[in-house]
Amino acid sequence: MGVSGTPRTTEEWTDLQHSTDREQGLRDGAFPGPEPAPDCPDCGLTVDIRPTHYRWWVGLEPDGPAPLLAHTVPPGQRWHLDRDGTAWNAQDHEPGPGECCRISHHLVCPRRDRP
Ligand SMILES: [Zn+2]
Repeated sequence: MGVSGTPRTTEEWTDLQHSTDREQGLRDGAFPGPEPAPDCPDCGLTVDIRPTHYRWWVGLEPDGPAPLLAHTVPPGQRWHLDRDGTAWNAQDHEPGPGECCRISHHLVCPRRDRP
């Protein structure tokens, strides 16, 4: 926000971090604010609400009967969970062989347009 070039102060770095977090949150389908209810506001299905490292929330699809192989999921849509349950998006990082991931409900919500 108003910062151009390499940030020089802690404040500029914080600003850059916050605007980057916001852009990433929007791109990832995450949302800010207090912890949301575990129901999708669009379709009413139950989603797995998780915090992200940038303090937004993401509603992940509940774990399916079979693990979802990360290489079958498009880049930027692969979510992983830390031990503490914090969700993070692997972005375009190439998954390792047999690596599994989660996807956000945002991606597959029956009431939303497909990306
Ligand atoms: Zn939905």
